[in-house]
Amino acid sequence: MVVEPRVKDFICTTAHPVGCAQNVKNQIEYVKSKGAVKSDNAPKKVLVIGASTGYGLASRIAVAFGYGADTLGVMFEKESNGRRTATAGFYNNRAFEEEAHKAGLYAKSINGDAFSVEIKEQVIETIKADMGKIDMIVYSLAAPRRTTPDGTKYTSVLKTVGEEYTNKTLVLKDNTITDAHITAANDDEINATIKVMGGEDWIDWMQALSDARVLADNVITVAYSYIGPKITFPIYAEGSIGQAKKDLYKSADIINEKFPNIKAKIAINKALVTQSSAAIPIVPLYITLLYKVMKEKGLHEGCIEQMQRLFMDKILDDTQVDDNGFIRMDDWEMRDDVQEVVAEHWDTVNNDNVKDIADIDGYWEDFYNMFGFKIDGVDYSADVDIM
Ligand code: NAD
Repeated sequence: MVVEPRVKDFICTTAHPVGCAQNVKNQIEYVKSKGAVKSDNAPKKVLVIGASTGYGLASRIAVAFGYGADTLGVMFEKESNGRRTATAGFYNNRAFEEEAHKAGLYAKSINGDAFSVEIKEQVIETIKADMGKIDMIVYSLAAPRRTTPDGTKYTSVLKTVGEEYTNKTLVLKDNTITDAHITAANDDEINATIKVMGGEDWIDWMQALSDARVLADNVITVAYSYIGPKITFPIYAEGSIGQAKKDLYKSADIINEKFPNIKAKIAINKALVTQSSAAIPIVPLYITLLYKVMKEKGLHEGCIEQMQRLFMDKILDDTQVDDNGFIRMDDWEMRDDVQEVVAEHWDTVNNDNVKDIADIDGYWEDFYNMFGFKIDGVDYSADVDIM
């Protein structure tokens, strides 16, 4: 079948198997080009929860090809039924496993709901059978809903807290600027968002792994968050998702207190185009303005550059944290000289100048690349096996 992109709102409903594989190979080459980690303490057996796309996939690639680590991945992806393509994460994951095996690394993946008790048990059985003990856990889930062990279903929302909020946004279907009006979440919606994107499930994972005695004596676990500039505060840091992230920070403290052999860390990552961030109102416009400035200054990074830098330069060094104990991978994004220009452009951006001051092409390039499209060297006119 010849596979073409089919874009609907902020998602592409098709994915290209060869393009996704090439994307993964390119990320692996990037990590290899930077060299292996020098530390003897580098983790060797890593569990990545949310391993198939975005920051989780890049984390897995960084630890596998930077530390030489064996990896077990957990993801929630759809296989192809022969008529529709699989999801991008499915193809990414398969390509990752193939490349890891070629490099002599253990790599297995479990496709299912990471929030469930069953998948936690399956992971533990696999660790016991294949890995013995693990020494790092990356928690990189971005999910719209969660069913808790008692069977209750929660759906997260992307809303403000308190006041409603109106600001500019980029209409992705025609690249125009319009106003986005974001309503305030009610208490139930805030609580549901905390249930889905907060830290309760992260703690559950640590408890389950600890009870099963599959953790090494010194374990690092890391979860990701975003802070960003004032422009995005109402929708992100101070919005419903921000409340969930505050819960994630508290959960890191709980893990550190409860499990003496686990060091729980929070990395604040850069705003990037991923399947999750594309769904947040206002953020895509901020990202296009940010990309433009960071590219002009030679500071731009994608998921793999961020994660290579996190795992090779920062996470093993406990001194590389801010006053809150966070690892700041948004250090370049938040530089004054970057944010001053972005804020200026935010005030002036309109339909006439958006193409000049916002990196619309860069946004769409990243967007298509996520689904395996518009990747250099891939023949998109060729018939491909979508299974
Ligand atoms: P993403 O959508 O690219 O990846 C999400 C991953 O979670 C995928 O591997 C998916 O298969 C998996 N997943 C989702 N639901 C699951 C479930 N129920 N069971 C098992 N796996 C499941 O998202 P991302 O942008 O890489 O986000 C990862 C983390 O990074 C999130 O915590 C997010 O808040 C954070 N973060 C993202 C950005 C950004 O700009 N994208 C910036 C800073 C921090």
